[in-house]
Amino acid sequence: MIDAVELAQSLIRCRSVTPADDGALDVVQRVLEGLGFACTRLPFGPDDYRVDNLFARRGTGAPHFCYAGHTDVVPPGDPAAWTDDPFAGVVRDGQLFGRGACDMKGGIAAFIAGLSQYLAANPNHPGSISLLITGDEEARSVDGTAKVLEWMEANGQIPDMALVGEPTSKRVLGDIIKIGRRGSLNAWVTIEGKQGHSAYPAAADNPIHRMVAALAPLLAAPLDNGTPHFPPSTLQVTGFDVGNTTSNVIPAIARAMINIRFNDLHSSAHLIERLHAAFRAAGARYTMETACSGESFLTAPGPFVQALSDAIAQSTGVTPALDTGGGTSDARFIARYCPVAEFGAVGETPHQVDERTSVADLHRLAEAYRAILAALLR
Ligand SMILES: [Zn+2]
Repeated sequence: MIDAVELAQSLIRCRSVTPADDGALDVVQRVLEGLGFACTRLPFGPDDYRVDNLFARRGTGAPHFCYAGHTDVVPPGDPAAWTDDPFAGVVRDGQLFGRGACDMKGGIAAFIAGLSQYLAANPNHPGSISLLITGDEEARSVDGTAKVLEWMEANGQIPDMALVGEPTSKRVLGDIIKIGRRGSLNAWVTIEGKQGHSAYPAAADNPIHRMVAALAPLLAAPLDNGTPHFPPSTLQVTGFDVGNTTSNVIPAIARAMINIRFNDLHSSAHLIERLHAAFRAAGARYTMETACSGESFLTAPGPFVQALSDAIAQSTGVTPALDTGGGTSDARFIARYCPVAEFGAVGETPHQVDERTSVADLHRLAEAYRAILAALLR
């Protein structure tokens, strides 16, 4: 049987700050091969930013359940600020300390520990189990989960359902399952006017006035009033810049930056069109660049979410709330292919100094993952 804490310690001792791996995926692969998984390594990315990924599968039948996670971590910052070496994996006072303890080497270790318990009781389980473990989640997220999913699709490995093991629990283990995430859209707009003397505005074209006229209707009314599983979408002007220090000159150029966090009533394409309409209506000569870091998605409550919820309630004694809050995660990529939810440890200290997770929680999380496998593979 695999011990969640020992495995988490082995993973924390690999200094896998993105894009480095430092043996973390080797640790995972060795354990999974011992449990009968066929493993494929999938390195992607340019030579100066090579990241490694692992796809592992046991069985070939349906239903195919996939657990997704990442072994890369954010840098520790100043190691001297930590009580212990951030890569030592020290256990003290019932807590496992180290970079990745909570986000999310602890989660991966708990899943594999729960998996080993499940397999001991169900050596000939129905369906199949896979793990998609990436080394490129914390930084660019370009050569990780998204690329592995393309490979999986090309090789007939798309699962029927997936669970991302990010630390979603808030106060106590089991209190939150994420069933969707908001989308995020950035826009950078430049309006070109005509520079001139502020005493003779008729001979100039003030780009600030056009910017204000374009932004005002976008800010005047909410984008929506929320949906059953999402809060209202939000639009924030996050930058407004004309670079002018002369009070009697109308500047030639005005720039603005906009960030929209949007729910399942919108797509980035439709929001971009809405922005264009506002700038066109203001009569502006403008250019706009946009970047969507993820569309919104929702795995609507149904048999999959219910089975997860029941298994978590049964093993933790806590009935999880269904939530869509927070930023983006790799679930946004998986949602394009199959139903996906997120459930994991209590996420109190991710990316912090003295990142840690409760040892008792790690064992209880392993038990919850075992119960999830038993509930979904039938
Ligand atoms: Zn994470």
